Amino acid sequence: MTRVLVLNCGSSSVKYRLFDVPPNAQAGAGAGTAAAAPGGAGEVAAPLVVATGVVEQIGERVPGAPRDHAEALAAVMSDLPLEGLTAVGHRVVHGGLTFTTPALVDDAVLAAIADLVPLAPLHNPANLAGIEVARALLPGTPQVAVFDTAFHRTLAPAASTYAIDAATAERYGIHRYGFHGTSHAIVSRRTAALLGRPLDEVNTITLHLGNGASACAVEGGRSVATSMGLSPLEGLVMGTRSGDLDPAIIFHLHRVAGMPFAEIDNLLNRRSGLTGLAGVNDMRTLLTRRAAGDRAAALAFDVYCRRIRSYVGAYYAELGRLDAITFTAGVGENAPAVRAAALTGLDRLGIAVDPARNDSPERGARVISPPEAPVAVCVVPTDEEWEIASQTLAVVAGPR
Ligand code: AMP
Repeated sequence: MTRVLVLNCGSSSVKYRLFDVPPNAQAGAGAGTAAAAPGGAGEVAAPLVVATGVVEQIGERVPGAPRDHAEALAAVMSDLPLEGLTAVGHRVVHGGLTFTTPALVDDAVLAAIADLVPLAPLHNPANLAGIEVARALLPGTPQVAVFDTAFHRTLAPAASTYAIDAATAERYGIHRYGFHGTSHAIVSRRTAALLGRPLDEVNTITLHLGNGASACAVEGGRSVATSMGLSPLEGLVMGTRSGDLDPAIIFHLHRVAGMPFAEIDNLLNRRSGLTGLAGVNDMRTLLTRRAAGDRAAALAFDVYCRRIRSYVGAYYAELGRLDAITFTAGVGENAPAVRAAALTGLDRLGIAVDPARNDSPERGARVISPPEAPVAVCVVPTDEEWEIASQTLAVVAGPR
């Protein structure tokens, strides 16, 4: 048994999960592609979750709550059975172009993550604080940084380049980095396993629909297109983020409405998407309101699903041949109405959802398209923590 701790340090919260991993679950395919995971054909024994939890409200404002990440992590770790811990895996949001695989943390890695703070000012400082505190609390235990962006470093230049002045883009790091990489990686792998086919032969569109949302075209296990870009703001409609819009909207709001850029940033990241359109970011509430005849909720639902359909069409064209479309994360795993509406009208492309399969209360990885459909539509639960744990163990095990 190998024990590994996964930490996801956000600006005001720390999420953690402690795994005990049986030896046969560590047969990693190497850093970047990571170990096989439970739940499908050819996969291996499940890891045991020893502990899981979240500490919220880190900051100065709430009396009794931890004041900083050092306090929060010290409290978490004093409660956890960490004897025999092999490694700590840290979720790091932005790895820029520097990190194409997970990295064993040393001073140079920490400095490189700090250099990327301008690209992820909300996320990387908290991720960095988490690594520094864990390093101090657990000296001698290897720490591994696993990046949300790394899976997308296989994008071809034509897919990752924005059509703006090339020198300006180069100077300021304007580039499509992509996010949710650990989720797209594990879900595309589990889709191939579910279909009983080798990963390198399967082309999948993965739709990670959580509070944040992104689409990814995965060709034989490699990301070739993804909807989030320089930041997690681009692409699909999300709980509170707008996703794609005409960039001129920003200039218009600045010039005509006199909004400062910080306010526009807040508008697009926190007061847009489902929240902006219907005043609610939770898909469950939105669906209830829509069913009760709320027109704003119905429009928000239509805008949300139409955007997904546009990306499915674009990524089908990108891949040329499509084997599977996979829904994952909170909305993707739990909202049949979204899955059905997002893929409606695509029968001529070989894409259809079987109503009984789609509405079934079944959990776990499953196919929801009709038998013999040319494209398998799937629902596959994501497990970003386990992906981080298995990538961490692959790094610690070293090259095979
Ligand atoms: P995640 O970021 O993956 O945790 O997803 C969170 C989101 O999933 C929530 O904000 C909800 O909108 C959505 N969600 C969770 N459970 C359900 C459900 N049973 N039906 C519809 N949406 C759900």
